[in-house]
Amino acid sequence: MLINRRFLLRTGAPALAAASLLPAPVFAAEQKKAGARDITVRDVNGLAVFGGAGCNVVALPGPEGALLVDGGRAVNAAVLLKAVSGALKTKRVHTLINTHWHPEQVGCNEAVGKDGGVIVAHEVTRLYLGRDSHSALYEGVIKAVPPKARPTKTTFNTGSLEFAGETVEYRYLPAAHTNGDLFVHFPKHNVIAAGGPVSAVRWPVMDYLNGAFMHGFVRSYEILAAVVKPDTIVVPADGPTLTGADIVRQKDMYEALFKQLFAHFNKGFGPKDVVEARPLKDYEAQFGDPAQFLEAAYRSIQLATIPY
Ligand SMILES: [Zn+2]
Repeated sequence: MLINRRFLLRTGAPALAAASLLPAPVFAAEQKKAGARDITVRDVNGLAVFGGAGCNVVALPGPEGALLVDGGRAVNAAVLLKAVSGALKTKRVHTLINTHWHPEQVGCNEAVGKDGGVIVAHEVTRLYLGRDSHSALYEGVIKAVPPKARPTKTTFNTGSLEFAGETVEYRYLPAAHTNGDLFVHFPKHNVIAAGGPVSAVRWPVMDYLNGAFMHGFVRSYEILAAVVKPDTIVVPADGPTLTGADIVRQKDMYEALFKQLFAHFNKGFGPKDVVEARPLKDYEAQFGDPAQFLEAAYRSIQLATIPY
């Protein structure tokens, strides 16, 4: 793997977003310091994974430029693209796949689009990027991106492309983190870029006002668990990687939680009652305080089930 170690400046997980109960904008602190990080790169089964731009960026060099999965924040786009060129010895990004439309994922879109790169995403991601959006996870308005920054090739479910002599597959994770999540599978490397629904070290975030829904979240884990092998390396949107075996364990955990949340629902619990019942207490030592995740998961069930 051609990775220039000059860019290996720091290792370890990026700082984690401070936990707080919804509806506080949980990414606000991250937004303020988003331009302050160095770009790191590490080898994951022959793929380059860049950190520090706002999310994990999975990269593969090709003869006509690099393929990237996600692109970090716009404020970090120039430094990330320079790091990619330096590490992979590529002159441009040929293909960029957005796992979803959150600002941490799409910050390189404009530069890549202006340079003639192909931008692949779920159709919902393309629609979201074309308009102003609101989210319980972010302060203020998430502005529409310029036309050149919008995806040029979309799918509603599955797709694949040939790149640098290998097949790269992508597939919808229904209503897991947003309502337009894709994961990207590199079978030759036994690596999956899983995007926002997955985390190794903290509870995932559900953008429940923008389509994330506990039913889809659990279904997405079932899809991932069916695709991974035990030793598959799974790269989440943030932080350290997981294995396929970890994904299967988490799938079991979330399926059990799903049943428990409906038991709570049938008792007439509100979100605070669910948090106080501590249905994930056996996992708090590993993943931290689940209050924010539980509240989002439960509110997603309430939103979909209780008519207003
Ligand atoms: Zn996200």
